[in-house]
Amino acid sequence: MILPIVAYGDPVLQQEGEEISPDYPQLKALIDNMFETMYAAHGVGLAAPQIGKSLKLFIVDASPFAEDEPDLENFKKVFINPVILNEEGEEWAFNEGCLSFPDLRIDIERQETITIRYQDENFKEYEETYSGLAARVLQHEYDHVYGVVFTDRVSPIRRRMLKGRMTNISKGKIHADYKMKIFSPKGSVIK
Ligand code: ZN
Repeated sequence: MILPIVAYGDPVLQQEGEEISPDYPQLKALIDNMFETMYAAHGVGLAAPQIGKSLKLFIVDASPFAEDEPDLENFKKVFINPVILNEEGEEWAFNEGCLSFPDLRIDIERQETITIRYQDENFKEYEETYSGLAARVLQHEYDHVYGVVFTDRVSPIRRRMLKGRMTNISKGKIHADYKMKIFSPKGSVIK
């Protein structure tokens, strides 16, 4: 089932998600729905808060980047309860997009390499190190499950310049080719 994607402005995007235990109900269906939603929106990553669930869960499929980085050909994964243990290397800028901010692309500086501990969809635990675009996709999605969005990562001056466009997104003045949920204190609207 394709779910609406939460637009910037919804408080769920600014909350740290809860940890997930193996007895979380209907987890497989939730993950399947997240993949379906991400593919329908042509994203390479999607975090649970972006479909309105405040949970430490995100998915990635970075295979569209395989042209630039052949290693990403099969980079399709589920990350549950992730913890970045280490970040290192030089910061580099990459022009990032986010499904919760349609039409907004921003150069974001992040470090080159991360080591991340997480569980997969079967709650098997891993500790792995990633660099380059793989690390980049994980860093962006990881931020989401801790209540951080990419506009939090720019300088105050840049953020002031982006403010008008961010306000428009939060009010639903957007052109997305996928369904979005626009927050309103009186009740969210699907657009
Ligand atoms: Zn995002």
